[in-house]
Order: sequence, then structure tokens, then C-alpha cells
Amino acid sequence: MDLGIRGKRAIVCAASKGLGRGCAEALAAEGVDLIINARGEEALRATATDIAARYGVHVVPVAADITTDDGRRAVLDAAGEIDILVNNAGGPPPGRWQDWDRDDFIKALDANLLSAVALMQATVPGMMQRGWGRVVNITSAAVRTPIPVLGLSNTARTGLTGFVAGMSRDVIKHGVNVNNLLPGLHATDRADSLDGGTAKAEGISIEEARARRQSAIPAGRYGEAADFGAACAFLCSQQAQFIVGQNLLLDGGALNVTM
Ligand code: NAP
Repeated sequence: MDLGIRGKRAIVCAASKGLGRGCAEALAAEGVDLIINARGEEALRATATDIAARYGVHVVPVAADITTDDGRRAVLDAAGEIDILVNNAGGPPPGRWQDWDRDDFIKALDANLLSAVALMQATVPGMMQRGWGRVVNITSAAVRTPIPVLGLSNTARTGLTGFVAGMSRDVIKHGVNVNNLLPGLHATDRADSLDGGTAKAEGISIEEARARRQSAIPAGRYGEAADFGAACAFLCSQQAQFIVGQNLLLDGGALNVTM
């Protein structure tokens, strides 16, 4: 299917690896020019070079911390006018609900709520003026089913979900679609580190921790970044123009619910 977005321009945040990279690659495969971001310059440049070579699109890497004002400014300055925004940042650390203090919450809110809001506030008005835009926020399955050790994530991401529920319905009349993509377990560095945490907490090997978590997924495996990217590209497509303020769960069937 031709998604009808060839020649569009997208910012994909936190995209040198993992799910962000999956989204960047899927958009590049549709002919979208990219501004990609991550903090580590070497891996980011390697990703940009690889994507540009494989898909023949223009890719600008901007090494910056997207959770800071300066980092976002650097990305926005390099990007200029864009049609598509994919919001993403690293996830907060695991822990116990009693242990997080105000600074921990502020850090999580900056990373997984306020950065996304600031980037939407900076880019969506231009999309509205031009009459076309797409925003995809990478959140988490945690907004549908709380993950006890990831209370900081549960908190920040449900806040973003509430924000998007309201603003998406306001901007759609100007041709801008805003939706959220909710990853369940995907095989990325983040999943490796959470597997490591489970292994340590339960005194088992990482392989055993992973096998246990995979066995709880009806699809029988972790998702791949390419699975995730394909869904992101579809939400950015022409065909997705009637999808507004939705939360698409990609979890291999792990959440056992009817709707
Ligand atoms: P990942 O494999 O660890 O990749 C994270 C990417 O984000 C890297 O490119 C990293 O590069 C970049 N990054 C991290 N912090 C950043 C920052 N402050 N500014 C700019 N770039 C930053 O993580 P992932 O698995 O793709 O996860 C992406 C998001 O989905 C996270 O918020 C995660 O919590 C959430 N999620 C993931 C899963 C899963 O199973 N993988 C499940 C639910 C939710 P640098 O380190 O060089 O900056």
C-alpha cells in the first residue's frame, strides 16, 4: 500500500536505536525525509548514514537531549517546517512507589510528558496553517495496564494520554491527526535492561526472565522495532486521516481484554 507521504518531512525523537529507529526506518521506506535525534552522537550519525543509504531519503541527525529546552531548540532549528512529529524519549527507571521523590517525578514528567507537549506546541500550529500534519506519541502499554515497578512511567504517560485526548480533537479540523502508540514488550535495549532488573530481583538468569515474560505474550515473542515502525508509518499516512486521539496497543495480545 502506498501511504501517500513521499516527500513529507518528519522529526523522529530518540531514534538512534529501538522503537524510535523503527519508526524512522518505516517512514524513510515511504520516502519521508527525516530529522532524527538522540544524545549519543556516534550511534546517531551511524543510524542517519545507514537510513539515508538504504532508503535514499535526506536524514539530518541532531545529537541532543530531547528532555531539555536547549535540546528541543536544536532539533526544531535544524528541522524548520515539518509535516510529521514522532515523540519519544527514554523511559524512567524502575523502582518502588514509596521511593520516588519530587525530583524523580519531575524528571519523568519532563521526559515522558512535557517534552512531547512542548514539541507539539512548537510544531502543530505550523501543520494547522498548512492544513496537514501527523503526530505519533510513543507512550506505553502502561497506560492500559499499570506496571507496578514502572510507577513513574504509569504516571507521566497517562498524563500525556489525557492531554492528547483533548488537543487531538481540537486540531483535527485543520487536518492534523494526533495519536498515541502503546508498546508492549519489544526486543530493544530497554527490554534487555528491564529483563536484567527482573532477573536480579527474582534471582534468575536473564534468559529465564525473558522466557517467562515471552510466555505471557500470546504471540509468543517480543515485538520487533520493525513491527512498531510499520504501525507508526500507517498512523502518519493519508489513509489514517479519520483516526483521531486513539491509543493503539502493540503488545502481541498480552493484555487480556475484549476492547
Ligand atoms: P531504547 O532501545 O533504550 O532506545 C532509546 C533511544 O532513545 C536511543 O536511541 C537513545 O539514544 C534515545 N534516547 C534516550 N533518552 C533520550 C533523550 N533524553 N534525548 C534524546 N534521545 C534519547 O528504548 P526503546 O525500547 O526503543 O523505548 C522507547 C520508548 O518506549 C521508551 O520511552 C520506553 O520506555 C518505551 N517503551 C518501551 C518498551 C519496550 O518493550 N521496548 C515497552 C513499553 C514502553 P541515546 O541514549 O544515545 O540518547
